[in-house]
Amino acid sequence: MLNQTHNPDLISWVESANSGNTDFPIQNLPFAIFRCAGSKENFRAGVAIGDQVLDLAAARKSEAFSGLAQAAIAVCDAPELNGFMAMGKDAWSALRLALSNALASGSDEQAKLAGCLISQGDVEYSLPCRIGDYTDFYTSIHHATSVGKLFRPDNPLLPNYKWLPIGYHGRSSSIDVSGQTFKRPKGQLKAPDAVEPVFAACKRMDYEMEVGIFMGKGNQLGDAISIDDAEDHVFGMCLFNDWSARDLQAWEYQPLGPFLAKNFASTVSPWIVTTEALAPYRSSWTRDEADPQPLAYLESEHNRAAGAFDIQLEVQLETEKMRSEGQPASHLSLSSFRHSYWTVAQMIAHHTVNGCNLRPGDMFGSGTQSGPTPEEAGSMLELSNGGKQKIELDNGEIRTFLEDGDCVIMRGWCQKEGAARIGFGEVAATVLAAD
Ligand code: CA
Repeated sequence: MLNQTHNPDLISWVESANSGNTDFPIQNLPFAIFRCAGSKENFRAGVAIGDQVLDLAAARKSEAFSGLAQAAIAVCDAPELNGFMAMGKDAWSALRLALSNALASGSDEQAKLAGCLISQGDVEYSLPCRIGDYTDFYTSIHHATSVGKLFRPDNPLLPNYKWLPIGYHGRSSSIDVSGQTFKRPKGQLKAPDAVEPVFAACKRMDYEMEVGIFMGKGNQLGDAISIDDAEDHVFGMCLFNDWSARDLQAWEYQPLGPFLAKNFASTVSPWIVTTEALAPYRSSWTRDEADPQPLAYLESEHNRAAGAFDIQLEVQLETEKMRSEGQPASHLSLSSFRHSYWTVAQMIAHHTVNGCNLRPGDMFGSGTQSGPTPEEAGSMLELSNGGKQKIELDNGEIRTFLEDGDCVIMRGWCQKEGAARIGFGEVAATVLAAD
């Protein structure tokens, strides 16, 4: 699975890519859709290298690339990545290898590409692709158990949880890119001891720290994707904040699942880190012997050996007061995607086992990624134990749920001995007051 593009000794002629702490060294090469900030330019695809964006529309004309890589770059000269995602992994790999060679220190293409760079500080992003369908999973057993305890104290984990990756079909229309702001949603709230609900602004506004998983090549309606082929369909991953109105959720979620508690806003990070870039940070996946073992369609040797992704996931909160007083954001939690009870391959195999078709650009949410300890909780619902415990921020402010003006910032990165550190950048978005 590893190749020359993962070599930790590779350095780039783009100096900022070699700092050792950048999210975007030459081993990463993630994709986004961008244009110069405040301009009327066409949005098009770019690749992050250090603190720069390599403009693929400009690179297309540079004559630095040929063959399949050039064909892939031509498809990237578009306001969405769906065409490139649909090309499949041979094209993704060919372009990654060509970009790695062209951006490497000593490359003959340096002169042709130097003029295709734009500082990340000077660009704005749009959604990386047209997200046709969005499915949200629930793959952290730690999150499912703590939330279950709060919503159903006598019955926290339902019996199907350990047999299949639980999910629901979400809504893509309200997904936006980092920088999103949205008004606190209104809806029906009912306290457990109240006889009737009231109509009011949400009082229990929360975030969910998730990984967004983008489909590449899809499948025909009626054809399942086997677990062995599943990862060939995954273009890459981003950071994903699945905002949640907990009071709306508690009243509406039975019997059919989340509805208005989830569809008012969701935010993705601009950069998609490809599955190939994540290869060094794969880890083994196990299922406790005391738990049910997966049915055959959810089981494979490769999934056991390397089905998990060790992606560090951090959440920070920046309040209105911190912004006005120039204080840094406050750390809330740190977890890893490797704790997930189900893997990405299992999510795909299960999603399509009935013949459901996935299309390029479809996105899965991993579900809130809470780790085994309380500090690793990926939502405020868990950190505040259902609003019962105060969360003290670094500047002394107190929260149980989010206040108006709160900006939630999520970061993700992968780090391992013998591999370059790569990162996802960040996803940041802000809750505004209700109307
Ligand atoms: Ca979610």
